[in-house]
Order: sequence, then structure tokens, then C-alpha cells
Amino acid sequence: MFTGEILPRDYGIVVRRRRRAIFLSPTKFALGLALLGSPDDLERRIQNYSNDAHQSFRTVKKVFMDSADGRAPNIFSGGRAIESVALYGAMYDAFVRSQKNKSPHHVTMTVIDDNHLGHYDASCDCGDYIYGQSNGFSIICAHISALALALDIDNRSGKSSSENLTGLLPSDRKKIPRIPFMYYSRNSDLGMTKILWDLFVGKKSQYTINKSLLSERPVHASWVYEAVRDFYDRARYEVLRQEEKEASYDRFSASVRTLVENLCESLQEQGYIPQRYVLDFKGTTYESVARRFRKGNIVYDVVSSRKLLPLIVRKILHYKSVEVWRGDDSVGEHPYSRRDEDRINVDDSTRRICDEHIIIPSMHEKLSKLVSHEVGREYEKVLREQQRD
Ligand SMILES: [Zn+2]
Repeated sequence: MFTGEILPRDYGIVVRRRRRAIFLSPTKFALGLALLGSPDDLERRIQNYSNDAHQSFRTVKKVFMDSADGRAPNIFSGGRAIESVALYGAMYDAFVRSQKNKSPHHVTMTVIDDNHLGHYDASCDCGDYIYGQSNGFSIICAHISALALALDIDNRSGKSSSENLTGLLPSDRKKIPRIPFMYYSRNSDLGMTKILWDLFVGKKSQYTINKSLLSERPVHASWVYEAVRDFYDRARYEVLRQEEKEASYDRFSASVRTLVENLCESLQEQGYIPQRYVLDFKGTTYESVARRFRKGNIVYDVVSSRKLLPLIVRKILHYKSVEVWRGDDSVGEHPYSRRDEDRINVDDSTRRICDEHIIIPSMHEKLSKLVSHEVGREYEKVLREQQRD
């Protein structure tokens, strides 16, 4: 009913290095790995999956191939997925098979290694990458992921250039990219197969899959795990939002939207710097994507969704949580019922323990003047109902 909601496109880890930010997503790396797979790899993965699920190989294969065919017909077509790999100075240049289209994607990548932080300076001509550019991110898409994985696999397999994935000689593989996620540890890539199953057969969104994967420790490679624990928050969990759509808003929705914009503006006037999008109340019924503003160790998240009228979550960020891979809201109660007291919670984006305080604009001395009459009446109604519950 309430609007101003931000629709998510993906959830992943953003790694910052100076002014550059890369967005790393486990599902995109899984798709990249699937692109590289030979028919034998596919058979082995289906066999592993059917053993694990106690289903017949033939049934699993049919369901899997039928679903993949509709969504990414080229993904298991065999043959070289990466062609014309060349090294220009420190930059790799290659063509990577598209999941859907006939013509391959042109990918470039320079590996930057900085104090054990893996970082790529990369580009691709696919929709995902272009979308990221217009949002200030370098999205490591399935194609850049495929090139990174191919270099890593070739480096470890020791196969000759005629048999390996990139066709490069060891002397031409100058720098090997660090892979952020663990898919093929201990000779098993069942985890990766499960991701593909959820994507193709389960038709789950990348956002949903990544959110649940990234709340487990094993998927994080050790350098990513350390970057999340880093004192400067060099790796954070963030939401990639959908493109904003033109929609016809009724009057009430328009007032909610204006309120959200005014709240954001007032934070900026107070010197809070806009960051990107994060999750609040994660793992609860009220989970929402929020716009974040930060000054030092204080953040303000402006939340607005179908379930919540606009509210602000103020967090004073402290030390990193011990179980840094967990970002679920540890309070769990309805956000409105927490409004009068400070609570200790975990911040999903930085995985820091924080003092959390919820501000309802209509009840705030200064912010209440930003609330229109009709939205103000709705706040009263919702708060009354919530008190009754
Ligand atoms: Zn791409």
C-alpha cells in the first residue's frame, strides 16, 4: 500500500579501492563458471546434484536442461567459451560467450592486487555492466567472472595452452585475479550447481539467492572475509536497485515520495553523505531496501516500503560483529514499537554492532513539518493499530 519502495535487482559485496567500487555477486560468478563448463562438467554436476537430492539422474538432467534452455540457451553448448584472449601490458582482452545471444561479449580486465585486496579494473559490453556504470559501480558480470575464473583455473590446472580455457601460455598469465567466492573447494562444486538449479529451475531472483548465500561463511573466499572485517569497511554488503520506472502515482503515493525526498534532502543539508542502498530489518517481515547517508560512524537509513510508512533508522556504528557473515536483524520486533528506545543490533551493510534508534517523522519535532496532512493521518492510524497488536 505505501510506496516510495526501492525494488532490488541484486545483493552483493561492494569492494572499494580509492574511488573505484566493484560489485561482486555469487550468482554472476556461478553463471560465469557454468559458461566455462564442458559437457563432462555438466554431467558430473547433474550427477552430484541428483545424488544429493536422491532423484534419478535422467529426471534431474531433463528438468535442468529444459529450464536452462529457456533462460540461457548457450550456457551448456560446449566448445570454447572464451576466445581471442590477449594481454596488452597488464590488461587482458577477450571475447566471452553470451548466455543468450549469438555474438560474444568483449571483456577487458586488469588485475589490481592491493594489500591482499582483490580488485579488478574491468569492462564488458553487456547490459549488467552498462547498468552498473550508470550507477557508479563496476559490476563484475557473468562474462568478466568467466574470464577471471578461467585464468584462475588455468593457473591451477597446469594444462597446455591448447587444452586450457584461455589458450594462454603460463608466461602470458601475468597476474591471476583473486576469486571472491568459494565454489570448487575440496573438489566439489555442488554449491555452484545448487545456485544454477535455484536460478533456472527454481526461477529465484539473483537478489534472493545472493542474500541467503552471503549469510553463510563458507561462500566467502578468505580475502573477502578479511575485507568485510576490515576496519575501514572496504567490503560492504549492498543492494543494487532496479531502474526507476515511470509510474502513475495517486496523490497519497506522491506525498509519500515527496516526504522521502525531503527527508533525504534534510540529511544532506546536515552534512550526511549519500551512500548507496542497504538492507534494514533483514530477515524479518519488514525487511526493506533503504537509502543510506553517512558521516563518520553515524549512518541514517531512510526506509520506505509497501509495509512501512517512511521512517529513519539512525545507527551509531561500533566494532565488527564476531560472526561477521551474519547480517540479520537481531531485534525482530515491529520497527514502530522500537521507536522510543535505543537497541543494540547488527548493521547488515558493514556487519558492525550498532546502537539503533528509529525515528518516525510524524512524531519528530523538526521532521513532522515535512509530513503532509493526509500522510500524517495515516501515521496516526498505523501507530494506533500497532499499539493495539
Ligand atoms: Zn558482461
